[in-house]
Amino acid sequence: MSATDQQPAEHPLMGAVRQYGGDPVDLPFWEACAQGSFLLHQCGQCGRHYWPASRCIEHGDAAMSWVAASGRGEVYTYTVMHRAYTPDTRDKVPFVIAVVRLEEGPFYHSNIVDCPHDAVAVGMPLEVVMQPHPSGLTIPQFRPRGD
Ligand SMILES: [Zn+2]
Repeated sequence: MSATDQQPAEHPLMGAVRQYGGDPVDLPFWEACAQGSFLLHQCGQCGRHYWPASRCIEHGDAAMSWVAASGRGEVYTYTVMHRAYTPDTRDKVPFVIAVVRLEEGPFYHSNIVDCPHDAVAVGMPLEVVMQPHPSGLTIPQFRPRGD
């Protein structure tokens, strides 16, 4: 077997993306997170943004590409977790899981950090903050925005 018969090496983040339920088509998103950038999938014909990777509801997938996004949004809804359902959350309770309405339109599920859980409110302005995860992924989380 020659070198040209070998499979290309798998991307170093792909195992973590699969383990955490991600779709391989979102790999460019996770690569950008590791570089500190928050991307969204955008239709080049109408400009509509999507997360996760998607087909445009009007124009299909021909003009879709990953583009830099603002990383800004607001709390759409949230819940406060007071019980640790998994061992890795034992030291984190209480913590906030939120649906963030991004400025570009899509909704993004995340944690709200750098904020007491009882200070989180619907409509609170947010900005993304990248946090490293033991899996090797860099996870976008959101914190209050002071503007
Ligand atoms: Zn479109």
